[in-house]
Amino acid sequence: MPTRTPRTRRAPIYRDSGFVFETIDEAVETYRDEAANPQSAEQFIYTRWANPTVLETEAELARVEGSKWAMLASSGMSAIEIALSIFEEGPNTGPWLFFSEIYGGTNTFLDQIMVKRRGVHIERFKPGPSGAGDGERFDLAALEKALDTIKPKLLYFEALTNPLLIVVDGGAVIKAAKDRGIRVIVDNTFCTPLLWKPLKLGADLVVHSATKYFGGHGNITAGVVAGDDDQLGLDARTYRKLIGQILSPDDSYRLGTQLQTLELRFGQACSSALKLARLLEDHPKVTSVRYPGLDTHQTHAEAVKLFEGRGFGAMLNFELAGGRAAADAFVAAARGHIDYIPTLGDGRSILMHVPSNFGAEKYPYPGMMRLSVGFEPYEELESATLAALNAIP
Ligand code: PLP
Repeated sequence: MPTRTPRTRRAPIYRDSGFVFETIDEAVETYRDEAANPQSAEQFIYTRWANPTVLETEAELARVEGSKWAMLASSGMSAIEIALSIFEEGPNTGPWLFFSEIYGGTNTFLDQIMVKRRGVHIERFKPGPSGAGDGERFDLAALEKALDTIKPKLLYFEALTNPLLIVVDGGAVIKAAKDRGIRVIVDNTFCTPLLWKPLKLGADLVVHSATKYFGGHGNITAGVVAGDDDQLGLDARTYRKLIGQILSPDDSYRLGTQLQTLELRFGQACSSALKLARLLEDHPKVTSVRYPGLDTHQTHAEAVKLFEGRGFGAMLNFELAGGRAAADAFVAAARGHIDYIPTLGDGRSILMHVPSNFGAEKYPYPGMMRLSVGFEPYEELESATLAALNAIP
């Protein structure tokens, strides 16, 4: 671990791209030790391989995740790429089964890189009673059938989907896969380990876009892969070392600092989201609210079971009565308080228009807005929301 100068609490940022050896022999031995144990903190050689500042934040991430190891990547997408790539087996790769309702960038990556360039056989599991995309719940019996028919080697899902906020019983999904010897990766960005910890329920790997709640201020792009299996940890580190997606020491340092307030920030955001969802439900200019904490939500029962009272997330989705014109008026009036920014997990609440961003064909709701609730004081969020609703003619 990094040495600290006496009378300082924080480790310095080590920006060295390579580390000093006193002798040729020391270099030879260090390379040999690193090859035998790349996860050891003692063998710093080259920052693309391992760096003391990055390792320090990784230790903190493993603590937050409750995992044996955690690894930082330069974005959520690079974390996903690492997690998937270490299960590739050349021509024997796949089939892999993905829930259809995952981050759009992941779906595009699957189609454009994994299928088109790497030739991986990928199948999608959709919501609805028959798993055909005709509903807003994932059916476990349909999933079990899909697992038995497709016989995937790997299953990948998000337990809280975007933008409809469908919650799936993550424990039951993991069990169905593990009972059949299928590997499981969970993208837990929307939930964070504060709502549930997939590794504790048997998942093989968890990935996060740390750009969102871990960073939490809209000022870092980063990703995390975490797990308990040493071999997977070794594979992931080796992959990152060779491809080069390690997060920079500066960003790792900032992420480590911002992580210290994750619980406070996310707790406040979840609590504000629930209060605002209840308020919006009764507002005359709002026709529907989707928030897993409301008992009117189609997957409220799943959310209660999976999150066990720790919260229901900080994303909420509502539909304005006046369609697209109302959405335009709302965005204009909210500007400066609730800005239109195409991401989530920023410090202040931010919003997006669902059909124009995610596709009107799939989401034929002209007035639907997605709100990423921040950790500003709730009263500020409420008054900005009500003022923007009042501004709709
Ligand atoms: N996973 C989820 C659930 C996301 O929402 C995102 C980005 O929005 C990503 C992964 C990709 O993360 P990044 O933008 O940090 O690469």
